Amino acid sequence: MGYLEGFKVTFAQIFGERVTTPYPKEKTPKALRQHGRHVLNRYEDGMEKCIGCELCAGVCPARCIYVRGADNPMDDPVSPGERYGYVYEINYLRCIHCDLCVEACPTEAITESKLFEFSFTNRADAIYTKAELVVDDEGMPRHLPWEDWRPGEEVDTSAWMRATAPSGSAAYEGVVAWSGELGFGVRAPEADQVTRDAITPPPSDGHDDHGHDDHDDHGHDDHGHDDHGHEDHGHDDHGGGH
Ligand code: SF4
Ligand code: SF4
Repeated sequence: MGYLEGFKVTFAQIFGERVTTPYPKEKTPKALRQHGRHVLNRYEDGMEKCIGCELCAGVCPARCIYVRGADNPMDDPVSPGERYGYVYEINYLRCIHCDLCVEACPTEAITESKLFEFSFTNRADAIYTKAELVVDDEGMPRHLPWEDWRPGEEVDTSAWMRATAPSGSAAYEGVVAWSGELGFGVRAPEADQVTRDAITPPPSDGHDDHGHDDHDDHGHDDHGHDDHGHEDHGHDDHGGGH
């Protein structure tokens, strides 16, 4: 095919019927349990839910959470109880959005929104600090300049994300499994299975339930690692570099 024939094909496609989703101009609905950018929640009275226990950091497989707890000031406590998280950081260059931090948290302080439309041009922006993660005085996530929030998306920040939600037993269906939060009060219980399936389309042929292809030729070892041979133990670069 000569180049003129090639242009002809191109122009025919330009004026033909569009079959692709008009993303990013329009976003398609996201799955109820999609894992996106985190938030740190507050109680309805404004107190922070994080108690600085560091369980989220301990369970994180990517070692991308850095937390430090401190005693609450007696005259102006930040959270209920003795301790609060006075340093909290998540490195999004590492986070794999597995949600284990959310599962581990005893107070539902750390949860995930559905927002995945965010990117960075430098490392400092990729490390979210407590000032960026704690919800604002309305209980809403703070919108950072490089994040693409659309109207209504900021309300999907919690309630739906825990594997320990009542879907395991019919006896718990419709039972609220979380505490109230600033701006929302006590959220409605998780939708039943039929509703969730109606919102989250089933996987198409050739994929398993997790959206993976049925191929077995990924070139990784049994643990999903490649052979680059480097080992990285740490989140040891928080000494004030950002
Ligand atoms: S979602 Fe997973 S990888 Fe990301 S901070 Fe939480 S535990 Fe770590
Ligand atoms: S977010 Fe939850 S698990 Fe992490 S330090 Fe705070 S209270 Fe503990």
